[in-house]
Amino acid sequence: MKPLEQLNKEIIACRKCPRLVEWREEVARVKRKAYKDEEYWGKPVPGFGDSQARVLVVGLAPGAHGSNRTGRNFTGDASGGFLFPALHRAGFANQAEVESRSDGLILKDMYITAAARCAPPDNKPTPDELNKCQPYLERDIEIIDPNVIVCLGRVAFERILKIYGLRGSVYKFAHAASYQLTNGKWLLCSYHPSQQNTLTGKLTVDMFDQIWKMARKLIDENI
Ligand code: SF4
Repeated sequence: MKPLEQLNKEIIACRKCPRLVEWREEVARVKRKAYKDEEYWGKPVPGFGDSQARVLVVGLAPGAHGSNRTGRNFTGDASGGFLFPALHRAGFANQAEVESRSDGLILKDMYITAAARCAPPDNKPTPDELNKCQPYLERDIEIIDPNVIVCLGRVAFERILKIYGLRGSVYKFAHAASYQLTNGKWLLCSYHPSQQNTLTGKLTVDMFDQIWKMARKLIDENI
């Protein structure tokens, strides 16, 4: 088995966080009315995309009725409805519309993962849960070995700083902030495409497109 397949198999079987195991399975059992006839995934959600990717995207955690339902990051909720059209415009995705693991989506030069793999209540994993999940993210980074890491939101950014032992007083989160690390990799920050940000105008389509143009520029110029 290839390392990425092995990793994802381990992630899907993980039950290290009792609170999240209970929550993800409860949500999958009760379901939202609109999806009552669907079978929810209800397990940890592994990363997906191009195993040769130069761009790694790190999100926060699965949405209760989004990827906890569909089993694929950002698939089936409003955040994905904002993300994938942007990735399609930037040439990282073959299609803008996504709905399930079998919708034909192919990511090009991009792999999408998250700081926590199980849907948390109120979209808030605890520090302890993030710590427990961190080794999976470390292994994603090790296997993919990306040139650019795009952090969607502050939680993802702080997790990456923790992994690399970087100080938050030096590396500050701001939309479109970018940093080159001593290992040559780039960190690129973006507001998370949650409805909380997109409906309030904190993150606009133009602001989000800017992120993917920056990522494209960094890999094309191989800086
Ligand atoms: S959040 Fe991560 S460490 Fe915790 S149970 Fe889910 S996959 Fe395991």
